[in-house]
Amino acid sequence: MTTSIAFIGLGHMGGPMAINLAKAGHAVTGFDLSQAALDAVAGHDILIAGSAAEAVATADVVITMLPAGRHVIGAYSPSGDDLGLLAYARPGTLFIDSSTIAVDDARTAHDLAVAAGHRAMDAPVSGGTVGAEAGTLAFMVGGSSEDFAAAEPILQVMGKRIVHCGGSGLGQAAKVCNNLILGISMIGVSEAFVLGEKLGLEHQALYDVASNASGQCWALTTNCPVPGPVPTSPANRDYQPGFAGALMAKDLGLAAQAFESTGVDALIGKLANEIYQRFAEGAGANADFSGIINDIRERSEAQGAA
Ligand code: NAD
Repeated sequence: MTTSIAFIGLGHMGGPMAINLAKAGHAVTGFDLSQAALDAVAGHDILIAGSAAEAVATADVVITMLPAGRHVIGAYSPSGDDLGLLAYARPGTLFIDSSTIAVDDARTAHDLAVAAGHRAMDAPVSGGTVGAEAGTLAFMVGGSSEDFAAAEPILQVMGKRIVHCGGSGLGQAAKVCNNLILGISMIGVSEAFVLGEKLGLEHQALYDVASNASGQCWALTTNCPVPGPVPTSPANRDYQPGFAGALMAKDLGLAAQAFESTGVDALIGKLANEIYQRFAEGAGANADFSGIINDIRERSEAQGAA
């Protein structure tokens, strides 16, 4: 069935996601503030709207893929002469926000949409630009069961694993909790390799033991931070490309915000956030997040020399 979809935010992720929806036969109208983003989707059967208002006016579904919570809430809400997406959409439109934003912001966006007479879900993704292009993203969805049933066939075009995590905001909650595990485990694996080096233990020997023992995890067996044991990991390509340090810093920043709002005393999570914020201030911003091992090694050398 063809659905009329407005896609707002055609950047690195949104562009290929919108292209996949158009390829699947949906009537996609796109809008982005950046001309470069609009140029990147040209020639893919996406109708480019002159404004966000025009993009959503006849849509059944509005998907947003924007940088942060303030952009989503800002796009939904009035500002000056612009009445915001919620005012321009027809009543009962299904709003799906796939941006990665704070749980509290997702709930605010949901409440604004519902107060304006619409339906709303948070549906952040993992899988990066490679998954966006291949249509193999994982979607973590928060919202009612009825809205999930309506959204699922559309999300299936862009992803291969769609999980309904519960009510409003719980898609974002699942994403932030998963990436908290990922950030902490990458630091743990990297510290173990650097300690092994100092103790004279070969990378491969540590890998052969830990990958078959209780140290086994994705950070070790898929995204191994040292070159060699897992030939496809970014470490074998000088940490390029991959899951950027800046995005891990963003996600751990959202986790820190959630620790604050819930009162969870996550000592390691808070430290992991500090470690990745520092990493993303320098060259780590664009390198795969497993490059954190180089920071740990450099700090260890500096301490050894002191
Ligand atoms: P991006 O910066 O490439 O794209 C965002 C786009 O939104 C830009 O083109 C920008 O011009 C546009 N935009 C901003 N405000 C707008 C508005 N009011 N109206 C219309 N367009 C507007 O970012 P991205 O890499 O595509 O990421 C988008 C979201 O997905 C982020 O929340 C990010 O954290 C999340 N995410 C990214 C990745 C990744 O690998 N890049 C992976 C998972 C999740």
